[in-house]
This record gives sequence, structure tokens and C-alpha cells, in this order.
Amino acid sequence: MAKAMIIGAGGVAQVAAHKCVENREVFTELCIASRTLSRCEELKKKLDGQGVAITTAQVDADNVPELVRLFKKEKPDIVMNLALPYQDLTIMDACLEAGVDYLDTANYEPEDTAKFEYKWQWAYQDRFRERGLTAILGSGFDPGVTGVFSAYALKHEFDEIHEIDILDCNGGDHGYPFATNFNPEINIREVTAKGRYYEAGKFIETEPMEIKRRYDFEGVGERDMYLLYHEELESLAKHIPGIRRIRFFMTFGESYLSHLRCLQNVGMTSIEPICYEGMEIIPLQFLKAVLPDPASLGPRTKGKTNIGCIFKGLKDGKEKIWRLYNICDHEASYREVGSQAVSYTTGVPAMIGASLVLTGAWKKPGVWNVEQLDPDPFMEGLNRYGLPWIVDETPTLVP
Ligand code: NDP
Repeated sequence: MAKAMIIGAGGVAQVAAHKCVENREVFTELCIASRTLSRCEELKKKLDGQGVAITTAQVDADNVPELVRLFKKEKPDIVMNLALPYQDLTIMDACLEAGVDYLDTANYEPEDTAKFEYKWQWAYQDRFRERGLTAILGSGFDPGVTGVFSAYALKHEFDEIHEIDILDCNGGDHGYPFATNFNPEINIREVTAKGRYYEAGKFIETEPMEIKRRYDFEGVGERDMYLLYHEELESLAKHIPGIRRIRFFMTFGESYLSHLRCLQNVGMTSIEPICYEGMEIIPLQFLKAVLPDPASLGPRTKGKTNIGCIFKGLKDGKEKIWRLYNICDHEASYREVGSQAVSYTTGVPAMIGASLVLTGAWKKPGVWNVEQLDPDPFMEGLNRYGLPWIVDETPTLVP
């Protein structure tokens, strides 16, 4: 018997809300609060009448006093932050003030610097612990399931993990020449940044998209993938003892990359404000406004995602290589919850993480990345709620 509040009403929030209703033994009440009330109401309409009491609210999640008022009025047991990474700290502040547990799927990023790091959120550790509150960081797929996979591999399959390669393949085709599968602003900021990977105790920087590899993904086929910096590299480097190297690769098609290069060359991906007809605008935000809304890609997207980790390490003194991954079908996701697989693979783990806090398995005062908590109930949840995992005992390594 618990009440969750979801902040945000975009692609990921839509999936998480459906999944909370599916897990109605735990989520008996739900409040969906976001900037645009009509999107919350549309979502409520789809989910009403299935045994979960749903309310909606308009909120500006950049405004701490407004959030605190809402939390005190609605009295949720947990707040699931499925808005944007810019709101992480304000929502954490409000949770501390109102005495509510917290969960998100992406680490804090200041709006004006395009640099994500855990340091800002890790700095809340003492305050959450002293208040007896739990904050779970990065409970999506990557970060999220990739961290849980790492904790599971360490708990059950390895004595030591030395290398992790995280491979994120989206083999989906939405038929547009250029569109992003989740928030375009966040997505473009991520892929135009310099690459970085962890090796021998330090991070090594690369030019954006400098390292390219080809890999054959089950359910998708051969794809080009590129080394990117991704936020779980920072937390896994800290939390997996004895780790020597962690890399993250994401697949991109040629059309996506050539459009992106062109947009970058003409300055459309910049986050520096410019003056246009007397008004200050940020080119990347303007670009977001003209690109298709990721939520609108759902009905058009065909194909599958294949995301997971290859682990290399030692078991009983012998070298071991082992892979865990999930395949998710865009069309099946859309049929089930009205969103494509990128939102699905993020919204399901958000619900699972929140349910584990609410049922006590992950209730632990302080601020935690998912790999710091028991992976077993989360792994069970993945199989139960639509993201079954697959083990490969003889995986192909990244060339
Ligand atoms: P969307 O852009 O589709 O949705 C974001 C929602 O947040 C919108 O409903 C938006 O409102 C709302 N919002 C934005 N700013 C505010 C604000 N100040 N106050 C209140 N509400 C606000 O994004 P997604 O659903 O695709 O992504 C949600 C989160 O999930 C992001 O943080 C993203 O980085 C993360 N993510 C994580 C992944 C993972 O694997 N870990 C993968 C994919 C995404 P409005 O409707 O008015 O625009």
C-alpha cells in the first residue's frame, strides 16, 4: 500500500506510469505531476479504472517551494523524477524538505554547461542519511540495468571483474531522416560531447565519435557503434572493486550521423544563447522544437534494441568472459504501453527501482547508485515486468 509521485509526463513517465498500474499490489496510489497538466491528464485517462487511484498536478520542478507544497499536499512515499536531468537537484532538495524518498534515471546536468557528473548528487549523501531517506540514482536502462547487471555478475558469476564493455544498440527505424529517440536536447548534448573511457585508474578522453567498432547484435544484425562517455562509467569505476577498464559504445546509423554533423557545422546544436529578432534563443532548444517529439515516434518505430554488458574477469582463478543483455521490440512496446522501446527500457526499471524502495528491499538511508544495492530482486523484476535478460556464456568480444 504505497503512493508514488511521477514528475514528468513524457515518453519515460508514460511507461513508468503504466508499469506502476501493472504492479498495483505495491503502487496503490499514483500522482502524475508535470509542467503541462494536459499531458498528465491524458495519461491518467489511459490508466483510470484499473484499481490504482490516480491524481494529477501541474508543477514547475525547477521551483523548490512549489515542489515542497505539492509533496506535502499529496504525501507520496516516493518521488520518481522522470522529468529532465536539470531538475534532479531541485527535486532532491524538495524531497529532503518534505521527507520523501527519491529516484531518478539520469544524473544532474547544469542546463548551461553540458557536463554531467555525479558529484552534485553524491554530495547529498549525508543529508539523505541523516533524514532517514533513500535516494536511488540512475534507475533506467543505462544507467540502471547496466549497473544492476554489473552487481549481479559480481555477486554470482565472478570473483573479480576486470573489464566491462557496455553495448547499447538501437536497431529501431522510425522512417524519419533525423529524429532522436528520447529528449533531443539531452540526446544531442550526450553524443556531441567528447568520448571518454576508464582505464587503469583514470579516464581517457577521445574526440567525439573517434572510436568506431562493428558488432553483430542478436535480434538486430551488424551495426557500427561508437565510444561515448556515459554516466554509469563514473559510478561503476568507483563501485566495482578491482575494475581495470570500462567502455560504453552506442550504435548510430550513417544518416543520423551525417545530419548531426551538418547541424553541428551550422551551429544548431550549440547551447550558447544567440539573439534572434530581439529575442534570446538557444539553438539546441530551437532545434528540439522543430524535431519530431520522441513520444510521436512510438507508432512509427520498427525493430529492436539490444543493450547489455560484456564482463571479463576471474572465477575460481580462471579467466571468464560473460555477457548479459536484453532485447526489446519497439512495436511490442508500443502495443503494450503506447511508447517505443527506448522509453520502455527506461520506464520499466524506474518502476522496479521505486517498488523495491517501497517494499523495503532497497530502502536504505543515503544516496545510492543501483550497483550498490542487492541486484537479485531487481533482476526478478526485469523478467516479470517485460525486460527479460539473456545470458551469453561465449560472447563475441568488441573487436
Ligand atoms: P521527455 O522530454 O519526453 O519528457 C520530459 C518530461 O518532463 C516532459 O513531460 C516535460 O514537460 C517534463 N518537464 C521538463 N521540465 C520540467 C519542469 N521544469 N517541471 C516539470 N516538468 C518538467 O523526456 P523522456 O521521457 O524521454 O526522458 C525522461 C528522463 O529519462 C530524462 O531525464 C532522460 O535523460 C532520462 N532517460 C534515461 C535513460 C536511461 O536509460 N537511464 C534513457 C532515456 C531517457 P512538458 O510535457 O511540458 O515538456
